[in-house]
Amino acid sequence: MAGLPYIVGNWKMNGTRAMLNEARAIDRAAARFPKVQVALAPPSTLLYRMRDTVELIGVGGQDCHAKDNGAYTGEVCAGMLKDAGADFTIVGHSERREYQSETDAEVKAKAEAALSAGLSVILCVGETEAQRDAGDAEGVVTAQVEGSCPSTEGAPERLSIAYEPVWAIGTGRVPSVDDVAAMHKAIRAKLVAIYGDAGSDVRILYGGSVKAENAAELLAVPEVGGALVGGASLTAESFLAIVGAAASLAEVG
Ligand code: PEP
Repeated sequence: MAGLPYIVGNWKMNGTRAMLNEARAIDRAAARFPKVQVALAPPSTLLYRMRDTVELIGVGGQDCHAKDNGAYTGEVCAGMLKDAGADFTIVGHSERREYQSETDAEVKAKAEAALSAGLSVILCVGETEAQRDAGDAEGVVTAQVEGSCPSTEGAPERLSIAYEPVWAIGTGRVPSVDDVAAMHKAIRAKLVAIYGDAGSDVRILYGGSVKAENAAELLAVPEVGGALVGGASLTAESFLAIVGAAASLAEVG
């Protein structure tokens, strides 16, 4: 797998201008961790200001519409994210798959729109607890990868997959390192089946209750190329502890 470890904070529907102080602190500290790629995905209302506030870290959206423009009240398209200074966008987060009933086909269309607009993409997949208990986790997740991955020319170069078990998001529960390793291996095999050799270079992040206490263990798992972090990305202190864990592993790796 190519590239630096990628640690991305997803602020979800949290943050007003006052929280840009956290982004500023994260950006300043990022200079101490040149072997880690750091990024934040704030709510779209903060994107433009965050872009102006930070210098070193990436800034991205949490979702985009699949169309370029039009009568879609309340929506934001990929070109608008790019115009506001985004480098990337998340698509297919399980909260959108659940609350907005987003399908794999819609997620794929969003990923393709984002790539066409010049953004990189973090595409989320993950099984529910019932699916894992039924022994279907790998089947569900690899089917999501198959159905959601963009077909755009050159897609693997700007694509990351975030494996986020739905039952681990915001719960404090995490899968065993063996389960994370098995799932990342299955995702890798599917990416190579889709993209050929280029599928080997797509970064696969782990997400779901990553914190300072478990980051080193999770980031050391084979095929884990970084982390998508929700709750622990909301303060510089908790997020930088995860970035620091990634940096320590990158030093020895
Ligand atoms: C997320 O929702 O992408 C996430 C990983 O959340 P948390 O870290 O809070 O589990």
